Amino acid sequence: MALVTYSYEAPVSQSLFDRAAAVTPGGVNSPVRAFRAVGGTPRFMVSGAGPYLIDADGREYVDLVCSWGPMILGHSHPEVIAAVQEAVARGTSFGTPGEDEVRLAEEITDRIEPVEQVRLVSSGTEATMSAIRLARGYTGRAKVVKFAGCYHGHVDALLASAGSGVATFGLPDTPGVTGAQAGETIVLPYNDIEAVRAAFAAQPDEIACVITEAAPGNMGVVPPLPGFNAQLKELCGQYGALYVSDEVMTGFRVGRQGWYGIDGVAPDLMTFGKVMGGGFPAAAFGGRRDVMDHLAPSGPVYQAGTLSGNPVATAAGVAQLRLLDDAAYAAVDTASGQLRDAVTGALEKAGVAHRLQVAGNMFSVFFTDSPVTDYEGARSQEAFRFTAFFHSMLAQGVYLPPSAFESWFVSTAHDDGALERVADALPAAARAAAEATA
Ligand code: PLP
Repeated sequence: MALVTYSYEAPVSQSLFDRAAAVTPGGVNSPVRAFRAVGGTPRFMVSGAGPYLIDADGREYVDLVCSWGPMILGHSHPEVIAAVQEAVARGTSFGTPGEDEVRLAEEITDRIEPVEQVRLVSSGTEATMSAIRLARGYTGRAKVVKFAGCYHGHVDALLASAGSGVATFGLPDTPGVTGAQAGETIVLPYNDIEAVRAAFAAQPDEIACVITEAAPGNMGVVPPLPGFNAQLKELCGQYGALYVSDEVMTGFRVGRQGWYGIDGVAPDLMTFGKVMGGGFPAAAFGGRRDVMDHLAPSGPVYQAGTLSGNPVATAAGVAQLRLLDDAAYAAVDTASGQLRDAVTGALEKAGVAHRLQVAGNMFSVFFTDSPVTDYEGARSQEAFRFTAFFHSMLAQGVYLPPSAFESWFVSTAHDDGALERVADALPAAARAAAEATA
């Protein structure tokens, strides 16, 4: 296999980034895209096909970000594109109910038994924000338990000790979130069931819900310890709180039924996004009918959206979900497994201490020799090694998440050719990681 050599300069991306920085804070519309954690010029992408992205300088990359999860069928899947084109030709927004909203809701409720009813929204943030409001409205309680390192979008009350960009930039708190908003949030160490037990014991009638990533991917991948989610559910039940499982990342990605299909713990409420939108802004929250019934217009808890259930987004979501059969998930799992073997092999050969952590077909590499079970462990890794690794991969045409605290994603389109390109790039990147200094 010939090694493809890539020039590292990105003059067109650089000039776009300069223009962007003049009109947009930090030059990006979502912080992690700015490459601040790894340095260098973010690549402005112009197109994608299958497992590949092409940047504004005309360079091709094997994409291991997949738009942070949604593109599970690869880029520009012909059937998803056809569904979108057909929908666009009929109009882009009606502000009325439409059949694809019903189809998408049925696709979700058919797959995931605990979701008896679902409400469509436009982003994962909206989904978790609305789920929390509903949990508070349903229980008449104010407090919310979340875990350090879990990210549930940029909901005010949930930004405390959050993962993803908040972890990448090491922000303890976000200015603009008031003490009142954060004061109702109880932040506990992930995977620490005794801490949850103690929180419930201290305030048995005050906790509306526990929200957790079903299997966290926003501090890097840190799967729940065996029984952790089941114990959370049990404690919630015991104290009259709701168990809210955030499957924005894992939902429809790690399997047809998401993480629920893996651990079988039935949440009271769940949140979804990413894969279910087929690359468009579509997300959802749903769960027990008696809880969802509290939502307007059936009940008093208000929630709404001008573009909720948008016809183009729902057409894309339905098309993508319908293509995701067992064979599709088997293909993603296989690609993920091959990639993981190649990464581990290269890092071992270069003598780099690392832990590759897995949740279904999601995984990430921690540059440490201890298993990572919580946010503190995630932050204690040698992230400077990731920076060297990342830039070597980028220079060789492999696009990784530009942060050591993010999951890597693959798709059904990551075929042998794409994986070989990654395998070819890994030895040099592993050596760069080995030689890196803090
Ligand atoms: N919840 C989880 C688990 C996520 O991973 C994310 C985004 O990465 C969100 C919520 C927020 O979703 P969005 O970025 O669509 O607002």
